[in-house]
Amino acid sequence: MIVAFVEHDGGRTDRSSLEALTLARRLAERSGEPLEALLVGDGAEAAGRQLGDHGVSTAHLVGDPRLADYSPAAWGRVLAQLVASRGADLVLAAGTDRGHEVVAHAAAFSGHAMAANCVEVEPGEPFRLTRQRWAGSLLEDATLDGPVRFLTIAEHVVEPEQAAGAVAVRLETIEPEVVEADLRSRVVARVEPEAGTISLADARVVVGGGRGVGSSEGFAELEELAGLLGAAIGVSRVVTSAGWRPHSMQVGQTGTRIAPDLYIACGISGAIQHIVGCKAAKAILVVNTDREAPIMSRASYAVIGDLHTVVPAISAEIRRVTGR
Ligand code: FAD
Repeated sequence: MIVAFVEHDGGRTDRSSLEALTLARRLAERSGEPLEALLVGDGAEAAGRQLGDHGVSTAHLVGDPRLADYSPAAWGRVLAQLVASRGADLVLAAGTDRGHEVVAHAAAFSGHAMAANCVEVEPGEPFRLTRQRWAGSLLEDATLDGPVRFLTIAEHVVEPEQAAGAVAVRLETIEPEVVEADLRSRVVARVEPEAGTISLADARVVVGGGRGVGSSEGFAELEELAGLLGAAIGVSRVVTSAGWRPHSMQVGQTGTRIAPDLYIACGISGAIQHIVGCKAAKAILVVNTDREAPIMSRASYAVIGDLHTVVPAISAEIRRVTGR
């Protein structure tokens, strides 16, 4: 039996979890094993109802209000208890911060091994997998031992896909044993993004700005372009370190990994830690004064020039063509 830990935002399943579920379903179809899911937090029931489309036969929902908010050890404990009670031999989750934390805790509580950021999985004896190391700049072939395998699936390596035919998903509310000590880390405050903000992780177009933007105020031109394109703003770490924009906008190894149709990278040199966050973009348009900048090797298109000239010119052309 395969168990997937599924993340959702108030009832809407996260794209990264749908990617991991797609891989989990393919493995379940190959082995003939059932695929079940664990969902925790407000909206778990609404998200669970949709999982029949992804081959999930049973969605286990956690009703305990103490677990409604994220708490890594406590959620990991629930996953470990479910894995033991259902006799699962394979556990998958998305390779997100939360997925890694919950699965790592569950594996530790269960006393079994875990492999993070897998890109390919070949079950059997030995159980083979390929996983990303060094923020995705290296791929490692490995085998994973033990009667229960815990995995996270690297983001943006599997295209989410529904099952050919939906199955009827059974919703089961579970009452896990909550260990008070596990609730040590818990959510104490929440900062909501401004209304109308487009999520960086899900955006189809991202306008990125780096040190070359020059200042916090310099982003006005990028924001204008983003507004015209319905795009999200992404930034390099230099920008967040300088306090020009918040960390929630950072793209990269220690920020968000994006997979838009188009990434417009303005004044960004293309350090490896930035590239690992944007390499899943289908196309990259680079705007940079330096034709030798490392990001040029990733560019689908490039404009060599000052972004403070090029970006307003793109916006002006969009306004001219669309009449906005
Ligand atoms: P620079 O490297 O300084 O590049 C600025 C670019 O702007 C240059 O190519 C320049 O030619 C161009 N430019 C200048 N003026 C203009 C202009 N007027 N018009 C057009 N182009 C112009 N970085 C991340 O981004 N994300 C991460 O998640 C991340 N994680 C890290 C984790 C670790 C452990 C470490 C050590 C580093 C990490 N970094 C990360 C930092 C990373 O190594 C780089 O320092 C950073 O990405 C560089 O940012 P930048 O491209 O904006 O700046």
